[in-house]
Amino acid sequence: MTTSDVESKMQALVEPWRERDLRASMPRSIVIVGDGAAGYTAAKVLRAEGFAGSISMIGSDRSATYRRPAVSKELLAGTKSVEQVLLGEPVVGVDVYHGVTALSISEDSVIVDDGDPISYDALLLATGSRARQLDDLGSGSVFTLRTAADVEPLREDFARTGSLLVIGGGLIGCEAAATARTLGAEVTVLEAAKAPLNRIAPESISRMYVDMHADNGITIHTDVAVSQIERRDDGTALVTAQDGRAWSAGTVLLAVGSVPNTELAVEFGLATRSGVLVDANMRTSAPNVYAAGDVAEVPNRLLGGTYRSEHWNGAVDQATRAARSILGAEVGDLDVPWGWSNQHGVNLQFAGWTTADDDYVLVRGSIEDRRFTACAVRGDMLVGAIGIGFPKDIRQVRAIIANGNPVDRDQLTADWLERQLTAVG
Ligand SMILES: Cc1cc2nc3c(=O)[nH]c(=O)nc-3n(C[C@H](O)[C@H](O)[C@H](O)COP(=O)(O)OP(=O)(O)OC[C@H]3O[C@@H](n4cnc5c(N)ncnc54)[C@H](O)[C@@H]3O)c2cc1C
Repeated sequence: MTTSDVESKMQALVEPWRERDLRASMPRSIVIVGDGAAGYTAAKVLRAEGFAGSISMIGSDRSATYRRPAVSKELLAGTKSVEQVLLGEPVVGVDVYHGVTALSISEDSVIVDDGDPISYDALLLATGSRARQLDDLGSGSVFTLRTAADVEPLREDFARTGSLLVIGGGLIGCEAAATARTLGAEVTVLEAAKAPLNRIAPESISRMYVDMHADNGITIHTDVAVSQIERRDDGTALVTAQDGRAWSAGTVLLAVGSVPNTELAVEFGLATRSGVLVDANMRTSAPNVYAAGDVAEVPNRLLGGTYRSEHWNGAVDQATRAARSILGAEVGDLDVPWGWSNQHGVNLQFAGWTTADDDYVLVRGSIEDRRFTACAVRGDMLVGAIGIGFPKDIRQVRAIIANGNPVDRDQLTADWLERQLTAVG
Protein backbone atom coordinates (compact mmCIF):
# COMPACT_ATOMS: atom_id res chain seq x y z
CA MET A 1 0.00 0.00 0.00
CA THR A 2 1.42 3.42 -0.93
CA THR A 3 1.32 6.41 1.37
CA SER A 4 -1.45 7.99 -0.67
CA ASP A 5 -3.46 4.75 -0.50
CA VAL A 6 -3.19 4.83 3.30
CA GLU A 7 -4.20 8.49 3.33
CA SER A 8 -7.26 7.95 1.18
CA LYS A 9 -8.29 4.91 3.23
CA MET A 10 -8.02 6.92 6.44
CA GLN A 11 -9.95 9.71 4.85
CA ALA A 12 -12.68 7.28 3.80
CA LEU A 13 -12.88 6.03 7.38
CA VAL A 14 -12.80 9.45 9.00
CA GLU A 15 -15.06 11.36 6.60
CA PRO A 16 -18.39 9.83 7.69
CA TRP A 17 -17.46 10.52 11.33
CA ARG A 18 -16.62 14.13 10.49
CA GLU A 19 -19.92 14.42 8.67
CA ARG A 20 -21.73 12.95 11.64
CA ASP A 21 -19.92 15.29 14.06
CA LEU A 22 -20.83 18.26 11.93
CA ARG A 23 -24.43 17.09 11.69
CA ALA A 24 -24.54 16.54 15.45
CA SER A 25 -23.26 20.05 16.21
CA MET A 26 -25.33 21.77 13.53
CA PRO A 27 -28.63 22.96 15.04
CA ARG A 28 -31.81 21.72 13.41
CA SER A 29 -34.07 24.29 15.02
CA ILE A 30 -33.19 27.89 15.83
CA VAL A 31 -35.39 30.21 17.88
CA ILE A 32 -34.90 33.97 17.78
CA VAL A 33 -36.49 35.97 20.60
CA GLY A 34 -36.98 39.54 19.38
CA ASP A 35 -38.08 40.69 15.96
CA GLY A 36 -36.24 44.00 15.67
CA ALA A 37 -33.25 44.80 13.47
CA ALA A 38 -31.14 42.10 15.15
CA GLY A 39 -33.77 39.32 15.07
CA TYR A 40 -34.84 39.99 11.49
CA THR A 41 -31.25 40.25 10.24
CA ALA A 42 -30.26 37.00 11.93
CA ALA A 43 -33.19 35.15 10.34
CA LYS A 44 -32.27 36.55 6.93
CA VAL A 45 -28.59 35.67 7.25
CA LEU A 46 -29.36 32.14 8.49
CA ARG A 47 -31.38 31.48 5.36
CA ALA A 48 -28.86 33.24 3.11
CA GLU A 49 -26.12 31.01 4.54
CA GLY A 50 -28.15 27.98 3.50
CA PHE A 51 -29.53 26.87 6.87
CA ALA A 52 -32.36 24.50 6.00
CA GLY A 53 -33.70 23.67 9.49
CA SER A 54 -36.56 25.41 11.25
CA ILE A 55 -36.35 29.06 12.32
CA SER A 56 -38.90 30.63 14.66
CA MET A 57 -38.88 34.36 15.41
CA ILE A 58 -40.92 35.64 18.37
CA GLY A 59 -41.71 39.32 18.82
CA SER A 60 -44.03 41.04 21.25
CA ASP A 61 -44.59 43.91 18.80
CA ARG A 62 -47.77 43.40 16.75
CA SER A 63 -46.40 44.76 13.49
CA ALA A 64 -43.83 43.31 11.10
CA THR A 65 -40.23 44.45 11.65
CA TYR A 66 -39.83 48.14 10.83
CA ARG A 67 -36.94 50.58 10.88
CA ARG A 68 -37.02 51.78 14.46
CA PRO A 69 -34.98 54.96 13.76
CA ALA A 70 -38.01 56.20 11.80
CA VAL A 71 -40.04 56.33 15.03
CA SER A 72 -38.68 59.73 16.11
CA LYS A 73 -38.38 60.98 12.53
CA GLU A 74 -40.75 60.05 9.66
CA LEU A 75 -43.32 58.19 11.79
CA LEU A 76 -43.64 60.95 14.39
CA ALA A 77 -43.70 63.55 11.62
CA GLY A 78 -46.47 61.56 9.94
CA THR A 79 -44.65 61.67 6.60
CA LYS A 80 -44.45 57.86 6.42
CA SER A 81 -46.55 54.97 7.68
CA VAL A 82 -45.18 51.84 9.37
CA GLU A 83 -45.79 49.93 6.11
CA GLN A 84 -43.46 52.38 4.37
CA VAL A 85 -40.61 51.79 6.80
CA LEU A 86 -40.71 48.00 7.02
CA LEU A 87 -37.25 46.48 7.11
CA GLY A 88 -37.93 44.16 4.21
CA GLU A 89 -40.03 41.31 2.92
CA PRO A 90 -40.79 38.52 5.42
CA VAL A 91 -37.92 36.01 5.36
CA VAL A 92 -39.07 32.92 3.49
CA GLY A 93 -39.51 29.82 5.62
CA VAL A 94 -39.38 31.55 9.01
CA ASP A 95 -42.22 30.93 11.49
CA VAL A 96 -42.91 34.42 12.75
CA TYR A 97 -44.90 34.98 15.94
CA HIS A 98 -45.74 38.71 16.10
CA GLY A 99 -47.63 39.84 19.19
CA VAL A 100 -46.24 36.92 21.21
CA THR A 101 -44.02 37.41 24.25
CA ALA A 102 -41.37 34.98 25.45
CA LEU A 103 -41.93 34.54 29.17
CA SER A 104 -38.95 32.35 30.03
CA ILE A 105 -36.32 30.14 28.52
CA SER A 106 -35.04 26.72 29.47
CA GLU A 107 -32.11 24.66 28.14
CA ASP A 108 -34.10 23.54 25.12
CA SER A 109 -37.26 25.60 24.78
CA VAL A 110 -38.85 29.02 25.00
CA ILE A 111 -42.08 29.44 26.98
CA VAL A 112 -44.40 31.96 25.36
CA ASP A 113 -47.57 33.72 26.53
CA ASP A 114 -49.62 32.44 23.60
CA GLY A 115 -49.08 28.85 22.46
CA ASP A 116 -46.97 25.81 23.22
CA PRO A 117 -43.31 26.04 24.22
CA ILE A 118 -41.04 26.35 21.17
CA SER A 119 -38.06 24.03 21.32
CA TYR A 120 -34.62 24.93 20.04
CA ASP A 121 -31.16 23.56 19.42
CA ALA A 122 -29.79 27.11 19.25
CA LEU A 123 -31.33 30.28 20.69
CA LEU A 124 -30.63 33.90 19.80
CA LEU A 125 -31.66 36.57 22.29
CA ALA A 126 -32.35 39.76 20.36
CA THR A 127 -34.74 41.38 22.82
CA GLY A 128 -33.42 44.92 22.38
CA SER A 129 -34.17 47.56 24.97
CA ARG A 130 -37.08 49.65 26.24
CA ALA A 131 -37.50 53.29 27.23
CA ARG A 132 -36.21 54.06 30.72
CA GLN A 133 -38.91 55.19 33.15
CA LEU A 134 -38.46 57.45 36.16
CA ASP A 135 -41.08 56.08 38.53
CA ASP A 136 -40.43 58.28 41.54
CA LEU A 137 -41.18 61.63 39.90
CA GLY A 138 -44.81 61.85 40.92
CA SER A 139 -48.19 61.30 39.44
CA GLY A 140 -47.98 63.31 36.22
CA SER A 141 -48.54 61.08 33.19
CA VAL A 142 -45.76 61.18 30.64
CA PHE A 143 -45.12 59.62 27.24
CA THR A 144 -42.12 57.60 26.10
CA LEU A 145 -41.08 56.96 22.51
CA ARG A 146 -39.66 53.63 21.47
CA THR A 147 -42.13 51.79 19.25
CA ALA A 148 -44.41 52.63 16.33
CA ALA A 149 -47.35 52.18 18.72
CA ASP A 150 -46.01 55.03 20.89
CA VAL A 151 -46.17 57.54 18.04
CA GLU A 152 -49.86 58.23 17.50
CA PRO A 153 -50.86 58.87 21.15
CA LEU A 154 -47.88 61.23 21.61
CA ARG A 155 -48.51 63.16 18.41
CA GLU A 156 -52.24 63.46 19.10
CA ASP A 157 -51.53 64.72 22.60
CA PHE A 158 -49.12 67.51 21.67
CA ALA A 159 -51.31 68.46 18.71
CA ARG A 160 -54.17 68.90 21.20
CA THR A 161 -52.20 70.71 23.94
CA GLY A 162 -49.93 72.68 21.60
CA SER A 163 -46.83 72.29 23.78
CA LEU A 164 -44.26 69.56 24.40
CA LEU A 165 -41.70 69.40 27.17
CA VAL A 166 -39.00 66.82 26.49
CA ILE A 167 -37.12 65.50 29.51
CA GLY A 168 -33.76 64.27 28.20
CA GLY A 169 -31.52 65.89 25.60
CA GLY A 170 -30.04 62.71 24.14
CA LEU A 171 -30.48 61.56 20.56
CA ILE A 172 -34.12 60.47 20.86
CA GLY A 173 -35.17 63.51 22.93
CA CYS A 174 -33.52 65.96 20.54
CA GLU A 175 -34.91 64.21 17.45
CA ALA A 176 -38.45 64.07 18.88
CA ALA A 177 -38.17 67.76 19.83
CA ALA A 178 -37.09 68.72 16.30
CA THR A 179 -39.88 66.65 14.72
CA ALA A 180 -42.58 67.99 17.06
CA ARG A 181 -41.48 71.52 16.21
CA THR A 182 -42.08 70.89 12.50
CA LEU A 183 -45.66 70.00 13.47
CA GLY A 184 -46.12 73.39 15.13
CA ALA A 185 -45.77 72.45 18.80
CA GLU A 186 -44.08 74.79 21.22
CA VAL A 187 -41.10 72.69 22.37
CA THR A 188 -38.71 72.88 25.31
CA VAL A 189 -35.98 70.35 26.21
CA LEU A 190 -34.60 69.74 29.71
CA GLU A 191 -31.20 68.05 29.95
CA ALA A 192 -29.59 66.86 33.19
CA ALA A 193 -25.99 67.22 31.97
CA LYS A 194 -24.07 70.36 31.08
CA ALA A 195 -24.85 69.85 27.39
CA PRO A 196 -27.26 67.85 25.21
CA LEU A 197 -26.03 64.86 23.16
CA ASN A 198 -23.14 64.59 25.61
CA ARG A 199 -22.81 60.82 25.16
CA ILE A 200 -21.70 61.22 21.57
CA ALA A 201 -20.46 64.81 21.18
CA PRO A 202 -17.89 67.10 22.82
CA GLU A 203 -19.14 70.35 24.33
CA SER A 204 -18.33 72.51 21.29
CA ILE A 205 -20.62 70.38 19.10
CA SER A 206 -23.31 70.12 21.79
CA ARG A 207 -23.34 73.91 22.04
CA MET A 208 -23.79 74.16 18.29
CA TYR A 209 -26.83 71.87 18.67
CA VAL A 210 -28.26 74.15 21.37
CA ASP A 211 -27.94 77.00 18.84
CA MET A 212 -29.40 74.92 16.00
CA HIS A 213 -32.45 74.07 18.12
CA ALA A 214 -32.76 77.73 19.21
CA ASP A 215 -32.71 78.80 15.53
CA ASN A 216 -35.71 76.52 15.09
CA GLY A 217 -37.57 77.87 18.10
CA ILE A 218 -36.63 75.19 20.68
CA THR A 219 -35.03 76.09 24.01
CA ILE A 220 -32.73 73.54 25.62
CA HIS A 221 -32.15 74.03 29.35
CA THR A 222 -29.12 72.20 30.75
CA ASP A 223 -28.09 71.15 34.28
CA VAL A 224 -31.71 70.34 35.04
CA ALA A 225 -32.25 67.54 37.55
CA VAL A 226 -36.01 66.96 37.31
CA SER A 227 -37.44 66.11 40.72
CA GLN A 228 -41.20 66.17 40.23
CA ILE A 229 -43.92 66.06 37.60
CA GLU A 230 -47.41 67.10 38.64
CA ARG A 231 -50.64 67.28 36.67
CA ARG A 232 -52.52 70.46 37.54
CA ASP A 233 -56.29 70.91 37.57
CA ASP A 234 -56.21 72.63 34.18
CA GLY A 235 -54.60 69.48 32.70
CA THR A 236 -51.14 70.99 32.18
CA ALA A 237 -48.04 69.38 33.64
CA LEU A 238 -45.73 71.21 36.02
CA VAL A 239 -42.18 69.88 35.91
CA THR A 240 -39.95 70.98 38.76
CA ALA A 241 -36.18 70.70 39.05
CA GLN A 242 -34.18 70.11 42.23
CA ASP A 243 -32.88 73.69 42.13
CA GLY A 244 -36.46 75.05 42.15
CA ARG A 245 -36.79 75.94 38.46
CA ALA A 246 -40.12 74.87 36.97
CA TRP A 247 -41.68 74.52 33.52
CA SER A 248 -45.23 73.86 32.48
CA ALA A 249 -46.42 72.16 29.32
CA GLY A 250 -49.40 70.33 27.91
CA THR A 251 -47.49 67.19 26.97
CA VAL A 252 -44.40 65.65 28.55
CA LEU A 253 -42.08 63.19 26.81
CA LEU A 254 -39.63 61.27 28.94
CA ALA A 255 -36.52 60.48 26.85
CA VAL A 256 -33.92 59.54 29.44
CA GLY A 257 -32.28 56.56 27.81
CA SER A 258 -33.07 52.91 27.43
CA VAL A 259 -32.87 49.76 29.53
CA PRO A 260 -31.81 46.48 27.86
CA ASN A 261 -34.39 43.69 28.05
CA THR A 262 -32.18 41.23 29.93
CA GLU A 263 -34.87 39.64 32.12
CA LEU A 264 -35.06 36.32 30.23
CA ALA A 265 -31.28 36.02 30.35
CA VAL A 266 -31.02 36.93 34.03
CA GLU A 267 -33.74 34.47 35.03
CA PHE A 268 -32.08 31.72 33.02
CA GLY A 269 -28.79 32.46 34.80
CA LEU A 270 -26.76 33.86 31.89
CA ALA A 271 -23.85 36.15 32.69
CA THR A 272 -25.03 39.77 32.41
CA ARG A 273 -23.66 43.17 33.30
CA SER A 274 -25.51 46.11 31.76
CA GLY A 275 -26.46 43.73 28.91
CA VAL A 276 -26.12 40.02 28.15
CA LEU A 277 -22.38 39.30 28.05
CA VAL A 278 -21.20 37.64 24.84
CA ASP A 279 -17.81 36.67 23.46
CA ALA A 280 -16.46 37.68 20.06
CA ASN A 281 -18.62 34.95 18.50
CA MET A 282 -21.77 36.37 20.11
CA ARG A 283 -22.00 33.35 22.43
CA THR A 284 -23.45 33.88 25.90
CA SER A 285 -22.31 31.95 28.96
CA ALA A 286 -24.70 29.06 28.11
CA PRO A 287 -24.04 26.59 25.30
CA ASN A 288 -26.16 27.18 22.20
CA VAL A 289 -27.46 30.53 23.45
CA TYR A 290 -26.36 33.67 21.60
CA ALA A 291 -27.24 37.36 21.93
CA ALA A 292 -27.07 40.33 19.56
CA GLY A 293 -28.25 43.93 19.23
CA ASP A 294 -29.14 46.46 21.93
CA VAL A 295 -29.43 43.72 24.56
CA ALA A 296 -25.91 42.35 24.03
CA GLU A 297 -22.76 43.55 25.72
CA VAL A 298 -19.95 42.82 23.31
CA PRO A 299 -16.17 42.83 23.77
CA ASN A 300 -14.29 45.89 22.55
CA ARG A 301 -11.38 44.23 20.82
CA LEU A 302 -9.35 47.44 20.44
CA LEU A 303 -9.78 49.25 23.73
CA GLY A 304 -10.61 46.32 26.02
CA GLY A 305 -13.74 46.11 28.16
CA THR A 306 -17.23 45.70 26.78
CA TYR A 307 -19.94 47.97 25.39
CA ARG A 308 -23.56 47.96 24.21
CA SER A 309 -24.01 49.41 20.75
CA GLU A 310 -27.53 50.93 21.04
CA HIS A 311 -27.35 51.89 17.35
CA TRP A 312 -28.95 50.39 14.29
CA ASN A 313 -25.78 49.32 12.48
CA GLY A 314 -24.41 47.64 15.58
CA ALA A 315 -27.58 45.51 15.84
CA VAL A 316 -27.36 44.48 12.18
CA ASP A 317 -23.64 43.73 12.34
CA GLN A 318 -23.87 41.70 15.56
CA ALA A 319 -26.88 39.73 14.30
CA THR A 320 -25.08 38.88 11.07
CA ARG A 321 -22.15 37.50 13.04
CA ALA A 322 -24.39 35.70 15.55
CA ALA A 323 -26.18 33.90 12.70
CA ARG A 324 -22.87 32.77 11.19
CA SER A 325 -21.56 31.77 14.57
CA ILE A 326 -24.64 29.60 15.21
CA LEU A 327 -23.83 27.78 11.96
CA GLY A 328 -20.22 27.29 13.00
CA ALA A 329 -18.82 29.66 10.37
CA GLU A 330 -15.94 32.13 10.79
CA VAL A 331 -17.31 35.25 12.42
CA GLY A 332 -14.51 37.82 12.17
CA ASP A 333 -14.22 41.11 14.03
CA LEU A 334 -17.25 43.31 14.67
CA ASP A 335 -17.32 46.53 12.67
CA VAL A 336 -16.23 49.71 14.41
CA PRO A 337 -19.65 50.96 15.61
CA TRP A 338 -21.30 54.01 14.11
CA GLY A 339 -24.62 55.77 14.20
CA TRP A 340 -26.44 58.81 12.90
CA SER A 341 -29.07 61.34 13.88
CA ASN A 342 -31.32 63.65 11.86
CA GLN A 343 -32.40 66.92 13.43
CA HIS A 344 -33.74 69.98 11.61
CA GLY A 345 -32.77 68.46 8.28
CA VAL A 346 -29.13 68.00 9.35
CA ASN A 347 -27.61 64.51 9.27
CA LEU A 348 -24.99 63.94 11.98
CA GLN A 349 -22.79 60.83 11.90
CA PHE A 350 -20.55 59.49 14.64
CA ALA A 351 -18.32 56.47 15.03
CA GLY A 352 -16.08 54.63 17.43
CA TRP A 353 -15.87 54.38 21.18
CA THR A 354 -15.74 57.94 22.42
CA THR A 355 -16.14 59.42 25.90
CA ALA A 356 -16.58 63.00 27.07
CA ASP A 357 -12.90 63.03 28.13
CA ASP A 358 -11.51 62.39 24.65
CA ASP A 359 -9.52 65.04 22.93
CA TYR A 360 -11.26 66.19 19.72
CA VAL A 361 -9.35 67.48 16.71
CA LEU A 362 -11.26 69.37 14.03
CA VAL A 363 -9.88 68.02 10.76
CA ARG A 364 -12.26 69.54 8.24
CA GLY A 365 -14.80 72.36 7.95
CA SER A 366 -16.24 74.41 10.78
CA ILE A 367 -18.58 73.46 13.64
CA GLU A 368 -20.19 76.91 13.43
CA ASP A 369 -21.02 76.33 9.75
CA ARG A 370 -22.48 72.90 10.66
CA ARG A 371 -20.22 71.14 8.14
CA PHE A 372 -17.20 69.49 9.70
CA THR A 373 -15.34 66.35 10.73
CA ALA A 374 -13.82 66.08 14.21
CA CYS A 375 -11.70 63.11 15.28
CA ALA A 376 -11.58 61.81 18.85
CA VAL A 377 -8.13 60.91 20.15
CA ARG A 378 -7.20 59.09 23.34
CA GLY A 379 -3.43 59.04 23.93
CA ASP A 380 -1.98 57.89 20.62
CA MET A 381 -5.16 56.13 19.52
CA LEU A 382 -7.79 57.38 17.15
CA VAL A 383 -10.98 56.26 18.93
CA GLY A 384 -13.80 57.93 17.01
CA ALA A 385 -15.14 60.72 14.87
CA ILE A 386 -18.20 62.90 14.57
CA GLY A 387 -19.26 65.11 11.72
CA ILE A 388 -21.79 66.67 9.43
CA GLY A 389 -21.58 66.66 5.65
CA PHE A 390 -18.53 64.43 5.17
CA PRO A 391 -19.70 60.80 5.55
CA LYS A 392 -16.62 59.59 3.68
CA ASP A 393 -14.44 60.89 6.54
CA ILE A 394 -16.45 58.86 9.04
CA ARG A 395 -16.02 55.71 6.93
CA GLN A 396 -12.34 56.50 6.66
CA VAL A 397 -11.90 56.96 10.42
CA ARG A 398 -13.67 53.63 11.02
CA ALA A 399 -11.23 51.90 8.70
CA ILE A 400 -8.23 53.51 10.43
CA ILE A 401 -9.56 52.58 13.88
CA ALA A 402 -10.12 49.00 12.73
CA ASN A 403 -6.47 48.93 11.67
CA GLY A 404 -5.47 49.88 15.20
CA ASN A 405 -2.32 51.82 14.23
CA PRO A 406 -1.24 54.62 16.57
CA VAL A 407 -1.79 58.21 15.40
CA ASP A 408 0.12 61.37 15.97
CA ARG A 409 -2.37 63.99 17.14
CA ASP A 410 -0.46 66.80 15.37
CA GLN A 411 -0.66 64.93 12.07
CA LEU A 412 -4.43 64.61 12.17
CA THR A 413 -5.60 66.64 9.20
CA ALA A 414 -8.04 66.07 6.35
CA ASP A 415 -5.04 65.38 4.06
CA TRP A 416 -3.74 62.74 6.46
CA LEU A 417 -7.17 61.10 6.56
CA GLU A 418 -7.23 60.99 2.77
CA ARG A 419 -3.71 59.57 2.55
CA GLN A 420 -4.75 56.82 4.95
CA LEU A 421 -7.64 55.99 2.63
CA THR A 422 -5.12 54.81 0.07
CA ALA A 423 -3.08 53.03 2.72
CA VAL A 424 -6.05 51.29 4.35
CA GLY A 425 -7.83 50.56 1.06
C1 LIG B 1 -36.94 56.41 18.56
C2 LIG B 1 -35.62 55.78 18.18
C3 LIG B 1 -34.85 56.37 17.20
C4 LIG B 1 -33.63 55.79 16.85
N1 LIG B 1 -32.87 56.40 15.90
C5 LIG B 1 -31.68 55.88 15.56
C6 LIG B 1 -30.87 56.48 14.56
O1 LIG B 1 -31.23 57.50 13.98
N2 LIG B 1 -29.69 55.90 14.26
C7 LIG B 1 -29.25 54.78 14.87
O2 LIG B 1 -28.15 54.30 14.55
N3 LIG B 1 -29.99 54.16 15.82
C8 LIG B 1 -31.19 54.68 16.18
N4 LIG B 1 -31.95 54.09 17.14
C9 LIG B 1 -31.45 52.86 17.79
C10 LIG B 1 -31.78 51.62 16.97
O3 LIG B 1 -33.09 51.70 16.48
C11 LIG B 1 -31.59 50.38 17.84
O4 LIG B 1 -30.24 50.32 18.21
C12 LIG B 1 -31.98 49.10 17.12
O5 LIG B 1 -33.32 49.16 16.72
C13 LIG B 1 -31.75 47.89 18.03
O6 LIG B 1 -32.26 46.75 17.41
P1 LIG B 1 -32.54 45.42 18.25
O7 LIG B 1 -33.10 44.43 17.27
O8 LIG B 1 -31.36 45.04 19.04
O9 LIG B 1 -33.64 45.82 19.32
P2 LIG B 1 -35.12 46.38 19.15
O10 LIG B 1 -35.26 47.22 17.94
O11 LIG B 1 -35.45 46.99 20.48
O12 LIG B 1 -36.00 45.07 18.92
C14 LIG B 1 -36.18 44.12 19.93
C15 LIG B 1 -37.55 43.49 19.75
O13 LIG B 1 -37.66 42.41 20.67
C16 LIG B 1 -38.97 42.39 21.19
N5 LIG B 1 -38.94 41.72 22.50
C17 LIG B 1 -38.31 42.10 23.63
N6 LIG B 1 -38.51 41.21 24.63
C18 LIG B 1 -39.30 40.23 24.10
C19 LIG B 1 -39.86 39.04 24.63
N7 LIG B 1 -39.66 38.66 25.90
N8 LIG B 1 -40.62 38.27 23.80
C20 LIG B 1 -40.83 38.64 22.50
N9 LIG B 1 -40.32 39.76 21.96
C21 LIG B 1 -39.56 40.54 22.75
C22 LIG B 1 -39.35 43.87 21.30
O14 LIG B 1 -40.74 44.02 21.30
C23 LIG B 1 -38.69 44.46 20.06
O15 LIG B 1 -39.57 44.50 18.98
C24 LIG B 1 -33.18 54.62 17.51
C25 LIG B 1 -33.97 54.03 18.50
C26 LIG B 1 -35.19 54.60 18.83
C27 LIG B 1 -36.03 53.98 19.91
